[in-house]
Amino acid sequence: SVVTRFAPSPTGFLHIGGARTALFNWLYARGRGGKFLLRIEDTDRARSTPEATAAILQGLDWLGLDHDGDVVSQFEGAARHAEVAQELLAKGAAYKCFSTQEEISAFREKAKEEGRSTLFQSPWRDADPATHPDAPYVIRLKTPQEGETVIEDQVQGRVVIRNDQLDDMILLRSDGTPVYMLAVVVDDHDMGVTHVIRGDDHLNNAARQMGIYSAMGWDVPVWAHIPLIHGPDGKKLSKRHGALGVDEYQKMGYPAAGMRNYLARLGWSHGDDEFFTDAQATEWFDLGGIGKSPARFDFKKLENLCGQHIAASDDAALLQEIDAYLSVTGETPLTEGQRDGMARGMYCLKERAKTFPELLEKAHFILTDTPVEPDEKARKALDPVSRGILVALTPHLQNASWSREELEAATAAFAEDQGTKFGKLAGPLRAALAGRAVTPSVFDMMLVLGKDESLRRIEHAAT
Ligand code: GLU
Repeated sequence: SVVTRFAPSPTGFLHIGGARTALFNWLYARGRGGKFLLRIEDTDRARSTPEATAAILQGLDWLGLDHDGDVVSQFEGAARHAEVAQELLAKGAAYKCFSTQEEISAFREKAKEEGRSTLFQSPWRDADPATHPDAPYVIRLKTPQEGETVIEDQVQGRVVIRNDQLDDMILLRSDGTPVYMLAVVVDDHDMGVTHVIRGDDHLNNAARQMGIYSAMGWDVPVWAHIPLIHGPDGKKLSKRHGALGVDEYQKMGYPAAGMRNYLARLGWSHGDDEFFTDAQATEWFDLGGIGKSPARFDFKKLENLCGQHIAASDDAALLQEIDAYLSVTGETPLTEGQRDGMARGMYCLKERAKTFPELLEKAHFILTDTPVEPDEKARKALDPVSRGILVALTPHLQNASWSREELEAATAAFAEDQGTKFGKLAGPLRAALAGRAVTPSVFDMMLVLGKDESLRRIEHAAT
């Protein structure tokens, strides 16, 4: 069965490209009843930090990309990686190389002068162990010098690399520590990874990694090297164009479901489908739908999808996400009363809000303190004439049962009576109910606030 993995290096936040790689692996595994594993590639001790690991875990958690089993630390597997190097040595598929840095540099310089390949060719490759000095050595893989290495990549197609273009890579350094490339192969093998889906910046590594697989006689995983994400201008993704940590998107108030949908579409397609649910994405996702050219990051499309996901969300779940959003941004949590109001009003708040801040802005009439403090524009809408209109309207509202139909009928009748248009009433009503000029519809606000509170606000604004 299918086993995928996400293998980030914990040297910074979980960036958008990493999140997309994780999502593709997650979708692929989840759609096939497989496993999605998480390995932290923390062998670079100088650059790896626990804070970065925490940020990656937090980002995955927010995106809902749950992994199976324990989080694997690559560094902790060093002894096992070294053991495989020794095994390759014992098999004769690797050798001890005693060449010093100076000798290697001299080799390269001479090769350059003579116009030959500067790939280092160790004189120890076929040396008799009896001639080995008592000196520090590295262990190198004995890469075949003829033939070619073929990567059957699910995205890039058939990639052929001539073996004479690959040098005998170091597996174990002179201090006995394994190199990264060896660690990746051993871990992927030991973890039972069947499909490696990752950025195409690792395509060259795949050729080298194949050498280790074949020397060990291990099954090679299915490769899928996905093109990197570019900015809207087609250039390398910059900060301004979205190269941010996913935590920044969380703080900007994008819903995780919208983010997942957008990231799935970033380099993968299923016909003309833009908006889809997690269930659909899981069912549809396949390697064949991954594009060969770099996807371009597009904030407009992200926002559009996020808006659709907010509108389609379950009200209670949305409220919980808003609680989480307020908590990550460090804003004041909702009071019990505000939550109740939000729950009642969610049906209209979630229409046409692309982010949580937009939704909360629409919810101002619920969240505001009472008596409502009108802003500049609302104050203008409450001139003496308008206040007079509100006074005259009040008894009509008092007599209305608080249903949408009756409220609409009562205000329409009043407007006609006054020889005016409903539009003339709407401004003062918005100002009275929300203290703002831009709000949800006055009827939605009146219904959500209820009769007593609505009339209180209108009376307060009118006098
Ligand atoms: N640790 C590598 C990275 O962060 C990924 C290696 C892999 O997926 O094989 O780019």
